[in-house]
Amino acid sequence: MRTSPNIIVTGTPGTGKTTHCEILAQNTGLKHLSINQIVKDRHCHDGWDEESKCWIVDEDKLLDAIEDEVKGGGYLIDWHGCDMFPESWIDLVVVIRCDSTLLYDRLSARGYVKKKLDENMDVEIMEVLLNEARESYDENIVVKLQSDTLEDIDSNVERIEVWIRNWKQDNAN
Ligand code: ADP
Ligand code: MN
Repeated sequence: MRTSPNIIVTGTPGTGKTTHCEILAQNTGLKHLSINQIVKDRHCHDGWDEESKCWIVDEDKLLDAIEDEVKGGGYLIDWHGCDMFPESWIDLVVVIRCDSTLLYDRLSARGYVKKKLDENMDVEIMEVLLNEARESYDENIVVKLQSDTLEDIDSNVERIEVWIRNWKQDNAN
Protein backbone atom coordinates (compact mmCIF):
# COMPACT_ATOMS: atom_id res chain seq x y z
CA MET A 1 0.00 0.00 0.00
CA ARG A 2 1.14 3.51 -0.82
CA THR A 3 1.16 6.13 1.91
CA SER A 4 1.63 8.92 -0.62
CA PRO A 5 -0.14 9.12 -3.99
CA ASN A 6 1.25 8.91 -7.51
CA ILE A 7 0.03 11.64 -9.81
CA ILE A 8 0.52 11.82 -13.56
CA VAL A 9 0.81 15.41 -14.79
CA THR A 10 0.23 15.23 -18.50
CA GLY A 11 -0.64 17.53 -21.39
CA THR A 12 0.60 18.83 -24.72
CA PRO A 13 4.20 20.16 -24.63
CA GLY A 14 4.16 23.77 -23.42
CA THR A 15 0.95 23.57 -21.41
CA GLY A 16 2.81 23.79 -18.07
CA LYS A 17 3.50 20.26 -16.80
CA THR A 18 7.01 20.90 -15.54
CA THR A 19 6.09 24.25 -14.00
CA HIS A 20 3.28 22.60 -12.02
CA CYS A 21 5.43 19.63 -10.97
CA GLU A 22 8.27 21.81 -9.74
CA ILE A 23 6.01 23.92 -7.53
CA LEU A 24 4.12 20.89 -6.26
CA ALA A 25 7.37 19.06 -5.46
CA GLN A 26 8.52 22.05 -3.41
CA ASN A 27 5.24 22.40 -1.57
CA THR A 28 4.28 18.79 -0.95
CA GLY A 29 7.47 16.73 -0.80
CA LEU A 30 6.23 14.50 -3.61
CA LYS A 31 9.09 13.80 -6.01
CA HIS A 32 9.18 15.24 -9.51
CA LEU A 33 9.78 12.38 -11.93
CA SER A 34 10.64 13.85 -15.32
CA ILE A 35 10.19 10.97 -17.73
CA ASN A 36 12.20 12.86 -20.36
CA GLN A 37 15.16 13.00 -18.02
CA ILE A 38 14.89 9.34 -17.00
CA VAL A 39 14.59 8.17 -20.58
CA LYS A 40 17.78 10.06 -21.35
CA ASP A 41 19.76 9.29 -18.18
CA ARG A 42 18.88 5.62 -17.92
CA HIS A 43 18.95 4.97 -21.67
CA CYS A 44 15.35 3.79 -21.89
CA HIS A 45 15.19 4.54 -25.58
CA ASP A 46 15.90 3.15 -29.03
CA GLY A 47 17.71 6.25 -30.21
CA TRP A 48 16.90 9.82 -31.12
CA ASP A 49 14.14 10.80 -33.54
CA GLU A 50 15.77 13.65 -35.43
CA GLU A 51 12.57 14.73 -37.14
CA SER A 52 10.51 15.04 -33.97
CA LYS A 53 13.55 15.95 -31.88
CA CYS A 54 12.75 13.51 -29.13
CA TRP A 55 13.88 10.13 -27.82
CA ILE A 56 12.15 7.02 -29.12
CA VAL A 57 11.01 5.66 -25.78
CA ASP A 58 11.47 1.98 -24.98
CA GLU A 59 8.39 1.68 -22.78
CA ASP A 60 9.19 -1.73 -21.28
CA LYS A 61 12.65 -0.61 -20.33
CA LEU A 62 11.32 2.62 -18.86
CA LEU A 63 8.68 0.87 -16.76
CA ASP A 64 11.28 -1.60 -15.48
CA ALA A 65 13.58 1.29 -14.60
CA ILE A 66 11.02 3.16 -12.50
CA GLU A 67 8.79 0.37 -11.18
CA ASP A 68 10.44 -0.19 -7.79
CA GLU A 69 10.50 3.52 -6.97
CA VAL A 70 7.09 4.45 -8.28
CA LYS A 71 5.22 1.55 -6.72
CA GLY A 72 6.17 2.96 -3.32
CA GLY A 73 4.19 6.11 -4.06
CA GLY A 74 4.89 9.81 -3.77
CA TYR A 75 5.68 10.72 -7.38
CA LEU A 76 4.64 13.46 -9.76
CA ILE A 77 5.06 11.85 -13.17
CA ASP A 78 5.80 14.54 -15.76
CA TRP A 79 5.20 13.24 -19.29
CA HIS A 80 3.29 14.19 -22.45
CA GLY A 81 1.52 10.87 -22.43
CA CYS A 82 -0.09 8.69 -19.85
CA ASP A 83 -1.32 5.45 -21.36
CA MET A 84 1.84 3.47 -20.71
CA PHE A 85 1.66 3.50 -16.90
CA PRO A 86 -0.21 0.58 -15.29
CA GLU A 87 -3.51 1.69 -13.74
CA SER A 88 -2.52 0.10 -10.42
CA TRP A 89 0.35 2.59 -10.05
CA ILE A 90 -1.71 5.72 -10.49
CA ASP A 91 -3.98 7.62 -8.10
CA LEU A 92 -4.69 10.80 -10.06
CA VAL A 93 -4.21 11.99 -13.64
CA VAL A 94 -4.00 15.74 -14.12
CA VAL A 95 -4.36 16.90 -17.71
CA ILE A 96 -3.06 20.43 -18.13
CA ARG A 97 -4.78 22.44 -20.85
CA CYS A 98 -3.84 25.72 -22.46
CA ASP A 99 -5.53 28.20 -24.76
CA SER A 100 -4.18 27.58 -28.26
CA THR A 101 -3.08 31.17 -28.92
CA LEU A 102 -1.03 31.16 -25.73
CA LEU A 103 0.34 27.72 -26.51
CA TYR A 104 1.43 28.90 -29.94
CA ASP A 105 3.42 31.71 -28.35
CA ARG A 106 4.98 29.42 -25.74
CA LEU A 107 6.10 26.86 -28.31
CA SER A 108 7.39 29.55 -30.68
CA ALA A 109 9.43 30.96 -27.80
CA ARG A 110 10.91 27.48 -27.41
CA GLY A 111 12.07 27.62 -30.98
CA TYR A 112 9.89 24.78 -32.26
CA VAL A 113 10.02 24.45 -36.04
CA LYS A 114 6.77 25.05 -37.90
CA LYS A 115 5.96 21.39 -38.39
CA LYS A 116 6.44 20.47 -34.75
CA LEU A 117 4.54 23.57 -33.72
CA ASP A 118 1.58 22.68 -35.94
CA GLU A 119 1.58 19.08 -34.72
CA ASN A 120 1.46 20.15 -31.11
CA MET A 121 -1.24 22.73 -31.76
CA ASP A 122 -3.36 19.96 -33.29
CA VAL A 123 -2.69 17.72 -30.30
CA GLU A 124 -3.99 20.44 -27.98
CA ILE A 125 -6.98 21.43 -30.07
CA MET A 126 -8.02 17.79 -30.61
CA GLU A 127 -7.72 17.13 -26.86
CA VAL A 128 -5.47 14.14 -27.57
CA LEU A 129 -4.02 13.87 -24.07
CA LEU A 130 -7.38 14.34 -22.38
CA ASN A 131 -8.86 11.56 -24.47
CA GLU A 132 -5.86 9.34 -23.84
CA ALA A 133 -6.25 9.88 -20.09
CA ARG A 134 -9.98 9.14 -20.17
CA GLU A 135 -9.44 5.99 -22.20
CA SER A 136 -6.62 4.69 -20.02
CA TYR A 137 -7.89 5.40 -16.50
CA ASP A 138 -11.09 5.46 -14.49
CA GLU A 139 -12.77 8.75 -15.38
CA ASN A 140 -13.10 9.55 -11.68
CA ILE A 141 -9.36 9.99 -11.32
CA VAL A 142 -8.89 12.21 -14.40
CA VAL A 143 -8.89 15.95 -13.77
CA LYS A 144 -8.59 18.67 -16.41
CA LEU A 145 -6.95 21.93 -15.34
CA GLN A 146 -6.50 25.10 -17.37
CA SER A 147 -3.06 26.75 -17.35
CA ASP A 148 -3.34 30.05 -19.23
CA THR A 149 -2.29 32.53 -16.56
CA LEU A 150 -0.10 32.67 -13.47
CA GLU A 151 -3.27 32.80 -11.36
CA ASP A 152 -4.30 29.51 -12.96
CA ILE A 153 -1.05 27.93 -11.77
CA ASP A 154 -1.71 29.09 -8.20
CA SER A 155 -5.24 27.75 -8.11
CA ASN A 156 -4.30 24.48 -9.82
CA VAL A 157 -1.46 23.87 -7.39
CA GLU A 158 -3.73 24.64 -4.46
CA ARG A 159 -6.37 22.29 -5.75
CA ILE A 160 -3.90 19.45 -6.20
CA GLU A 161 -2.45 20.07 -2.74
CA VAL A 162 -5.91 19.77 -1.19
CA TRP A 163 -6.46 16.58 -3.16
CA ILE A 164 -3.15 15.15 -1.87
CA ARG A 165 -4.04 15.97 1.75
CA ASN A 166 -7.42 14.31 1.39
CA TRP A 167 -5.90 11.27 -0.29
CA LYS A 168 -3.44 10.85 2.58
CA GLN A 169 -6.23 11.13 5.14
CA ASP A 170 -8.41 8.62 3.31
CA ASN A 171 -5.53 6.19 2.95
CA ALA A 172 -4.10 6.42 6.45
CA ASN A 173 -4.79 3.37 8.56
P1 ADP B 1 5.60 21.61 -20.31
O1 ADP B 1 6.43 20.99 -19.22
O2 ADP B 1 4.19 21.12 -20.32
O3 ADP B 1 6.21 21.50 -21.67
P2 ADP B 1 6.38 24.11 -19.07
O4 ADP B 1 6.01 23.95 -17.64
O5 ADP B 1 7.81 23.93 -19.43
O6 ADP B 1 5.47 23.17 -19.99
O7 ADP B 1 5.84 25.53 -19.53
C1 ADP B 1 6.11 26.03 -20.83
C2 ADP B 1 6.28 27.54 -20.77
O8 ADP B 1 5.03 28.13 -20.48
C3 ADP B 1 7.24 27.99 -19.68
O9 ADP B 1 7.94 29.10 -20.15
C4 ADP B 1 6.30 28.37 -18.54
O10 ADP B 1 6.86 29.35 -17.73
C5 ADP B 1 5.09 28.89 -19.28
N1 ADP B 1 3.83 28.67 -18.56
C6 ADP B 1 3.32 27.47 -18.18
N2 ADP B 1 2.13 27.62 -17.59
C7 ADP B 1 1.87 28.94 -17.58
C8 ADP B 1 0.78 29.73 -17.10
N3 ADP B 1 -0.29 29.17 -16.51
N4 ADP B 1 0.85 31.07 -17.25
C9 ADP B 1 1.90 31.64 -17.84
N5 ADP B 1 2.98 30.96 -18.33
C10 ADP B 1 2.96 29.62 -18.20
MN1 MN C 1 8.24 19.84 -19.46
